[in-house]
Amino acid sequence: MYQDRASGFSEMLPYVLLRSHVARNSCLKTHGVSPLQRYLCNVSSNSGGYPHVAIIGSGPSGFYTAKYLLEKHPTLRIDMIEKLPVPFGLVRYGVAPDHAEVKNVTSTFKDVALNNRFRFFGNIEILKEHDERNVRMRGAPDATLLDVKMLQNHYSAVVLAYGAEEDRSINIPNENSSGVLSARSFVNWYNGHPDFTYIGESIDLSKVHEVVIIGNGNVAIDCARILTKDVHELEKTDISTIALEKLKKSSVKRVTIVGRRGAAQSSFTIKELRELTRLPNVSVSISEEDMSKSMTDSSKLEAEESRPISRILELMRSIVKQSTAVDSNAKSSHANKAIDIRFLLRPIDIKVDLAQLPELPLQARAADKDLEILPIASSTVGARLYSLHRPKTIKSIILKKTELIGKPFEQQARDIHEKGKDDSMELVSISCQLLLKSVGYRSIRLRGVPFDASRSVVPHVHGRVVDSATQSEFSKTTATTETLVSSDRSTDGGIREMTDLLSKMLSSSDMDQGVNSGSKPLVAANDENKQSTSMLSPLYVVGWLKNGPTGTVATSVIDAKDTVGSMLADMKAVNTDSASVGEHHIRNVLSDPIEQLTMLKAKTVVSWSEYLNIDETESRTGSIQEPPKPLLKIHSVQDMLQIAKSK
Ligand code: NAP
Repeated sequence: MYQDRASGFSEMLPYVLLRSHVARNSCLKTHGVSPLQRYLCNVSSNSGGYPHVAIIGSGPSGFYTAKYLLEKHPTLRIDMIEKLPVPFGLVRYGVAPDHAEVKNVTSTFKDVALNNRFRFFGNIEILKEHDERNVRMRGAPDATLLDVKMLQNHYSAVVLAYGAEEDRSINIPNENSSGVLSARSFVNWYNGHPDFTYIGESIDLSKVHEVVIIGNGNVAIDCARILTKDVHELEKTDISTIALEKLKKSSVKRVTIVGRRGAAQSSFTIKELRELTRLPNVSVSISEEDMSKSMTDSSKLEAEESRPISRILELMRSIVKQSTAVDSNAKSSHANKAIDIRFLLRPIDIKVDLAQLPELPLQARAADKDLEILPIASSTVGARLYSLHRPKTIKSIILKKTELIGKPFEQQARDIHEKGKDDSMELVSISCQLLLKSVGYRSIRLRGVPFDASRSVVPHVHGRVVDSATQSEFSKTTATTETLVSSDRSTDGGIREMTDLLSKMLSSSDMDQGVNSGSKPLVAANDENKQSTSMLSPLYVVGWLKNGPTGTVATSVIDAKDTVGSMLADMKAVNTDSASVGEHHIRNVLSDPIEQLTMLKAKTVVSWSEYLNIDETESRTGSIQEPPKPLLKIHSVQDMLQIAKSK
């Protein structure tokens, strides 16, 4: 009888069936459940079912997690949920367009998607904390919104793989002026991300001669390269055509990359720095003074102990030699663009043209009540409105000279104060009309998910989401993996060493057993947390949201294996009815949860085959360009949807 009633309800009210897939144990513990609910719970768990995992985010971490789960488990199913109608996250919108070899990893991901136990649901946004209205204004009004708890109610497990979609701040005056952008926005813009097409409206590259980039990481190098590279070379890539047109008109002649610490502490990898030195018509320089001040006793020890550091210092010394050997006037005769790499300078102020400073953020608030809730400086929409109305040029950045203090590998930058000397002597001003803040990305919190706000990551133990107290308890166990994952100093050196080491730790035979070094069943330390989450499926985390914004596509392989190892262990524990696995039981479900929900949104949710329509259009139109491009990227969500649904 209940069965008939259940199917009847499911046709009329998808939610009734959706809500039925709460695991049996949780259901039976619950007081006050209706006979219908009790029946549905029993159906879910008694009839075999299979683990059905939702992965939020379709970047490299999400796809590698899917790949290893599908490889290691014979029946497990995966639904991948992506905010945009198109997959691949950072591979599509983060990796530089002229690094096609890195983007080739999408062919591996496309193979994963061919598995009939894998499904893709694009254009579905999972609610972040406090951002319903923000999302509504983001420019994707048709995106379906889901809550992570809703997914936990209906899937066997949920994997958070949504990366880092905000910026760290440098906390100096005028940071939000027009002419100041996060490198993340700039990268998204030249890669054609639909949310960042506005950048070209606020920055007129034809009026920009000097650019300063704050931060000594690979993203800074990517930005410097794109700003100085011959546009005819960029034309052959999948760079956004909107950005390409702006770059063709660019007047940029000098890019200065500035680090607050020294040469040995930079986060550049040698391959990326070397590539910069090989750009035709671009001179790269490092001053002898910066280099020698960088080489404290501790820095020398760092170089002795780390091969990637000693190798990059060697390359930097050769850059110093070239910079000093060639007189800068002579240099400019054969190199028409320059990249200066500076060290030991901390940004403290941005000089803007005060005469043009309008009070527009406040006026905008008065004009549109919705704006009152926007954290203007940190949200995409807020930043857009703000930047459109701020002065069109900045004048310069003011930096304070620093020195290194501390033990090897722990050196920090301290402001220089020389006795008897005026502090203003320790200031450096660099003229610029565009300032890019390349000081790292930041993850944001999902509603109802534990979050370590100080590090902007989700607390975890080998990928199992826990509260911060539980993470501290297990921190000794995790230290090894985290240190290794964050120590990718060299793409061609350090990563390989690290990959070898971690591969040994997480060998595939271990994964077959569902065992990794942290596969010990967990019990949450916090009783309150335990109670509130006892009805929900376990959560896992992977990628930058787990480790912070560091690591390349290669590191996401190792990291995904870590989380997958935990998931397999948790599945094994429940199958063998092992005792006290705490919250991380992965149970089987019969559900097809999202399909029913998304039926309501058939016009806007994008399936894999519909994404392939977009892919086919982008490849075809790219191939007929002159010169041909691997993809001619579509820039708007509406256009993507139209093409996705057109066949
Ligand atoms: P990153 O490597 O962490 O570099 C961030 C830089 O910002 C560091 O030099 C850091 O200096 C500096 N910084 C942080 N806060 C600052 C502040 N308040 N003031 C001044 N400077 C500050 O980050 P990223 O460049 O965004 O790259 C993210 C990850 O992506 C990295 O793992 C990178 O290797 C990877 N990536 C790889 C490639 C590639 O392989 N081609 C390309 C792009 C990105 P401190 O060290 O002093 O904190």
